[in-house]
Amino acid sequence: MKAWVDPDRCAGHGICTTICPEVFAINDDGYSEAAAGDVPEQFEDAVRDAIKQCPEHAIDDVTDDSSTEES
Ligand code: SF4
Repeated sequence: MKAWVDPDRCAGHGICTTICPEVFAINDDGYSEAAAGDVPEQFEDAVRDAIKQCPEHAIDDVTDDSSTEES
């Protein structure tokens, strides 16, 4: 999976960064950004949790179906 934070929606609460600091970080503007690239498998549950708990619904799973892993 790949996580993406919509900068137009994010309000910078930092809930996602608390749930999964390995993937989400607050940038200089005070909003969250997700690490680029695939979310490491061990953090996928935490990212799903962050997606559910974000009050602004600002986080999306933007996994590209064309690059689906075969494993
Ligand atoms: S929980 Fe949602 S609104 Fe809050 S910082 Fe994370 S992405 Fe932004």
